[in-house]
Amino acid sequence: MLRLYETQSREVVDIVGNDGLLRMYCCGPTVYRDAHVGNLRTFLLSDLISRVAQASGLRVQLVQNITDVGHMATDFEDKILAQSKVEAIDPFEIAKKYEARFHKDLQRLNILPADLYPRASESIELMISAIEKLIANGFAYVGVDGNVYFDAQSFPTYGAISGNRLDSLKPGHRFDASEDGAKRFHADWALWKIAGDRSQMVWETPWGVGYPGWHIECSAMSLAYVGQSVDLHVGGIDLRFPHHENERAQSNALTGHETVTHWIHGEHLLFEGRKMSKSAGNVVLLQDVIDRKLDPLATRFTFLENRYRSQMDLSWASLTAAHITLKRWRRLVADGGTGIAVEKDREVEEAFFNDLDTPRALQRLRTIEKDAQITAQRKRALFLYADQVLGLDLDRAPEKVVLTGEQVTLLESRAEARAKKDFAESDRLRAQLEASGLVINDGPDGQSWS
Ligand code: AMP
Ligand code: ZN
Repeated sequence: MLRLYETQSREVVDIVGNDGLLRMYCCGPTVYRDAHVGNLRTFLLSDLISRVAQASGLRVQLVQNITDVGHMATDFEDKILAQSKVEAIDPFEIAKKYEARFHKDLQRLNILPADLYPRASESIELMISAIEKLIANGFAYVGVDGNVYFDAQSFPTYGAISGNRLDSLKPGHRFDASEDGAKRFHADWALWKIAGDRSQMVWETPWGVGYPGWHIECSAMSLAYVGQSVDLHVGGIDLRFPHHENERAQSNALTGHETVTHWIHGEHLLFEGRKMSKSAGNVVLLQDVIDRKLDPLATRFTFLENRYRSQMDLSWASLTAAHITLKRWRRLVADGGTGIAVEKDREVEEAFFNDLDTPRALQRLRTIEKDAQITAQRKRALFLYADQVLGLDLDRAPEKVVLTGEQVTLLESRAEARAKKDFAESDRLRAQLEASGLVINDGPDGQSWS
């Protein structure tokens, strides 16, 4: 059985689902830019959970939203609208463009598609009815500025996921600073905002023309598309507060019960020791990995070398090492023949089930790789078993490299130069060959290349 670390109870718990079905919701991307590999690490988490849950015999239903409106860059500016100005394209086109790129990145990382990707901008009706119900039931109110706010104090268990209780949240914490004064209490948050000067991405509502706050979209979409009970809710650790705390309050106020059974969070990815951010200048995209001639699945491999709930540091060195191991493992799998049979390895299975201990599963594969007692055929079957969760395309045929005519000529000239002991010429030719992408090795039997 799959066991996962639950943020709220801070315990590793059994994941049982309901009648054989596991209903999951994972917070999706804000589509105003390419997802960086940190975002992708979080999206990989729901993929790993789905794959392992299926291996444990559960069916999985996964919904992941697309945030294409309402996520604010500042108090006044929507991220999508800001980017639409930068690129001088219609905001809906911006959203479409980056949504398509998001799907492409998922594909390149072998992240299996969710069952549904509802867009915030197409779920406005759902949000409006949710807000109407919250107002009718005394959980929300129209502020003096015309915006609709959730009344945090109406929800007694606010703070249960993150431990941020209302009485310890001081005014001045970065809420929507501009709204202080219009709200009854500093921790209240906007469900719906009045358009003011904004003319794009706005909708008619009973409270006037406006646009949604960020948090309400996930309550509205998860309740409509997953259901009144959600077994697992997944996201990056930064979403624990305020996003998930606010979402829990909204959803529970709407359903009248604890809507989400388990909140699961993935820890952040760092790059070369620092949190990945535009301002730190260390944002890495999957395309950057590909541009360096590394297999995008090397990224998936390095993520798997770290448990999802520990912070991890990515570097070009770790990606390159993963790229090399990946090639070696594909060769190992190819050497085991062409059979499609898989053989379950108990240790690998236990590692997956034990709170997604993928580092241990990879360690076990390294042991199998080195074990001279295991036949090549069996190694193949064991690796293919693990790959159902690892998703590293280990059965992909190893690349066959065909030398260009120029490379053949250079290799021949270098062999001649070495025979004449013209080492200056030999070094010059080596540099040329290496610039063309080959690695040259000189051994007792002459030069060889890879
Ligand atoms: P966004 O597109 O900004 O809405 O973020 C999408 C997801 O990426 C959210 O679940 C975030 O928690 C997650 N996320 C953001 N930064 C990182 C990071 N450096 N490492 C891992 N996950 C992240
Ligand atoms: Zn969300």
